[in-house]
Amino acid sequence: MRWKGKPQSKNVEDLRRPDGFMKRKSTSMGGIGLFIMLLLYLFFGQGNSLLDFTGATTQNTASNQSRNDGKSDEAKEFIGVILKYSEEAWGNIFARSNMHYQEPILRIFSNSVTSACGKTSSAAGPFYCPGDNKIYIDPTFFTELNQMGGKGDFAKAYVIAHELGHHIQSLLGITAKVTRMQQRMNKTKANQMSVRLELQADCYAGIWAHHTEKKHKVLDDGDIEEAINAAYVIGDDHMQRRAGMGVNTAAFTHGSSKQRAHWLKIGMLYGSVSKCDTFADLR
Ligand SMILES: [Zn+2]
Repeated sequence: MRWKGKPQSKNVEDLRRPDGFMKRKSTSMGGIGLFIMLLLYLFFGQGNSLLDFTGATTQNTASNQSRNDGKSDEAKEFIGVILKYSEEAWGNIFARSNMHYQEPILRIFSNSVTSACGKTSSAAGPFYCPGDNKIYIDPTFFTELNQMGGKGDFAKAYVIAHELGHHIQSLLGITAKVTRMQQRMNKTKANQMSVRLELQADCYAGIWAHHTEKKHKVLDDGDIEEAINAAYVIGDDHMQRRAGMGVNTAAFTHGSSKQRAHWLKIGMLYGSVSKCDTFADLR
């Protein structure tokens, strides 16, 4: 994937410090800001659920390595470029529907982070918090993805684009609608709705790839296969097997490998929100 040296988004906030403590950003987190964050935290606590990338809690073995060294700066640059491409792609898609695209903030953290969704460990993987409309990524997840078999830059881009997909769902009111529907459902049905939401985020990730490739020709040979392979290795059935468990479809949170790869492909192929109706058969 061609991304080096390309413009980066201004919406990346790096909360890491070499000593591992959270940096208090004076620009965005003054006294009032912190007070509001505290109120949000007390009000929502852990109850305001976040939307993550995989269902399983991963072994975060890499979290104490490579913090703010050359490698993680490369990760930061990469994240900045992907976010910038997404701002253009989704900005254009929204503009075509006469809608304003509200660009999300992406926060890079290490070990753990506190958001409107509560305190979250890196082990949960990257996530989007609908409560504050921000994406949270500990770049050490990229190492884990690699270890799981999700290799290559385009696989990493897919991770970011998936979380951006949750932002789009939030802006379009889909997340709120699904949450309301889930409150009237039993646990199994509610879980199935979560899976559909996750698959739609995969499809939206594909939309990002479609439009970015069309405009900037970022892909090299084998990149598409890399992303589809990443979708495959983080499928619920694959993760369950990897954890030495039997495949239990009732416990799926993000969809099977086949489903995740399928919806990513649909997004990449058509580049259209209307093609990403993962809820269609419910109507
Ligand atoms: Zn997700």
